[in-house]
Amino acid sequence: MQKVNLKGLDLNELRDFVVSIDEKPFRGDQIFSWLYNKSINSFDEMTNLSKELRDKLLERAQIDQLKLVVQRQSGQDQSIKYLFQLEDDSQIESVLMFDGNRATLCISTQVGCAIDCKFCATGMMGLNRHLTPGEILDQVLAVQKLNGTRVTNVVCMGMGEPFHNYDNLMKACELLSDELGLNLARRHIVVSTSGLIPKIYRFADENHKYRLAISLNATLDEIRSRIMPLNKKWPIAELMKAAAYYTKKSDLRVTIEYVLMAGLTDSLEDAKRLKNIVKGLFCKINLIPYNATLGEFKRPEERRIMQFYEQMRDLTVPVTIRWSKGDDIDAGCGQLAVKA
Ligand code: SAH
Ligand code: SF4
Repeated sequence: MQKVNLKGLDLNELRDFVVSIDEKPFRGDQIFSWLYNKSINSFDEMTNLSKELRDKLLERAQIDQLKLVVQRQSGQDQSIKYLFQLEDDSQIESVLMFDGNRATLCISTQVGCAIDCKFCATGMMGLNRHLTPGEILDQVLAVQKLNGTRVTNVVCMGMGEPFHNYDNLMKACELLSDELGLNLARRHIVVSTSGLIPKIYRFADENHKYRLAISLNATLDEIRSRIMPLNKKWPIAELMKAAAYYTKKSDLRVTIEYVLMAGLTDSLEDAKRLKNIVKGLFCKINLIPYNATLGEFKRPEERRIMQFYEQMRDLTVPVTIRWSKGDDIDAGCGQLAVKA
């Protein structure tokens, strides 16, 4: 008999499962709390279940967990990159970063990515497969255990395009923020998309309370289409309409991510166009100096990065530079990739 993996099931699914093995529904609630609140991965430790029930669970169910392959600590900041192995032996990475009282985990949503952005190491892998809800949320549970800290913030900015794996992602976020589970604040979860416009509208209409970030990365359609092929289908003007729609529906700022690449996206004309593009948008701007990958791109000199930033400063919205953490261990934005 095929065993059922319980990690990733929501409360109703756990109740249905226990009923299917002739138990009372509330046993599902107990298992829910063990899995997501207490991070327990073995039935033996579920001490409020009878020995008989635990034996039955051993026969009929399993609790999949990510296996740590290796972890690397950055020498320049405290960030840690984790390489995990999945049940089918594919691998993913997650990055833990510290900032004041915050412990932010950058999680992956896919093995690889189909979007094919030319500046991104994950993009160069192509898409292997989507992660399941259990695999998405288990990154948080596993890192908390390994590191002994509580993860306070989650950013879906690791490997993969979160909105390409929409349903699994939303289920994982629901489980992470459930009061009876990990109880992570919804506003402390950020979903970053390269710009799958129909999914931005869906996300806005479904009224999720997670935050949204959009990777703009260029100010001209011609350039954006070259480095992000999805722009041919979903160009900048349409993307900004979707962004504005989201802010109206959610009453939340949208984060506009903009990767600075020398000679490509870092001119002062770009800065002016960028200001025009976001005019009137309830947003904040995150400038990301390019991190090295195997591609042909280069990070601008620091002076140019600061000039670009200065150009943006007269905007009334917040502008920050995201100096990636852990780029000495290839843990910076866009540097996550594993062997296929
Ligand atoms: N797929 C999603 C989330 C993962 S990428 C997305 O594209 O938004 C997270 C951020 O890293 C994105 O803003 C992306 O544009 C940026 N990024 C990708 N490659 C990068 C690189 N080499 N240097 C700096 N930022 C990069
Ligand atoms: Fe995929 Fe994001 Fe990388 Fe583009 S930047 S290839 S969408 S992970």
